[in-house]
Amino acid sequence: ATPAATMVGTSIGAQNGVLFKGGDVLERVRDVDTVVFDKTGTLTTGEMELTDVVVVDDERAAPDGGALAAPEVDESFVLRMAAAAESGSEHPLGRAIVDGARERGVDVGDAEEFENVPGQGVKATVDGREVLVGNRKLLEDAGVDVAPAESEMERLEREGKTAMLVAVDGRVAGVVADADTVKESSARAVADLRERGVDVHVITGDNERTARAVAEQVGVDPENVRAGVLPDEKADAVEDIQADGTQAMMVGDGVNDAPALATAYVGVAIGSGTDVAIEAADVTLMRDDPYDVVKAIRVSEGTLSKIK
Ligand code: ADP
Ligand code: MG
Repeated sequence: ATPAATMVGTSIGAQNGVLFKGGDVLERVRDVDTVVFDKTGTLTTGEMELTDVVVVDDERAAPDGGALAAPEVDESFVLRMAAAAESGSEHPLGRAIVDGARERGVDVGDAEEFENVPGQGVKATVDGREVLVGNRKLLEDAGVDVAPAESEMERLEREGKTAMLVAVDGRVAGVVADADTVKESSARAVADLRERGVDVHVITGDNERTARAVAEQVGVDPENVRAGVLPDEKADAVEDIQADGTQAMMVGDGVNDAPALATAYVGVAIGSGTDVAIEAADVTLMRDDPYDVVKAIRVSEGTLSKIK
């Protein structure tokens, strides 16, 4: 493209809240054949709310009458332990648990020895007890049997919620779930991309069932969903998608997404995206609107064919 065409494209983009980092980016966007969306905060609002607190049956959790004997374990115990453990967390999932507990009148205490395990959850000491809040991997790695909670986990995940296990002193005590809302324009963006012949994928650290429930809501083929991807594996997942010469645009919002944005043929940071993501990206969408991905492609196509 000529410098003039690039200038026009960049300026039309800016008017639409689409910021291209230079003319070569504008040209690359035109050649994208696959769009990979991060789920949380990109296709969904990322505004998590606590929706469920479930006690895992004592009999199953502690068949040998272990540390968590009834009547100690009730919903408020599970929520109080989880919220205190998450009190130092900056993750939207953790913030929602703390806020939800406060709204339900729980006096959220402090945690000691807080540890954040990226892509898995948190570990902390609460009232002298060891608390874990997170996914199956977090608990399994700590040697906690997750089987007693499995049916509750699956039920909540099928509803598209992010279900998190709560373990106290090495045993599952309960499950808490957060849910967020699919953005209004996500389905329209996916439909438009597919109509243009662009393949659409979803990558997420969340579990398979939740990821598929969201994918179904927005119209992404279940085959194109990669779930349980750890933060440092997202870039590898993009590389894998591109292995056959596919030119992928990766769209994400979080710190976690930065390496994947840098690996993709085109990296796009969306809306309230973190500075790290914006820095790694080739394109920044000013609004929090996934449909602006379609606009970015239209701008690159329109400009480059109109003025040459
Ligand atoms: P995403 O890729 O969807 O933005 P993350 O990679 O941040 O998700 O997290 C992946 C999974 O790890 C979550 O779905 C959740 O099960 C677990 N997890 C991460 N952070 C926390 C936390 N602070 N508390 C509980 N669980 C967490
Ligand atoms: Mg995210």
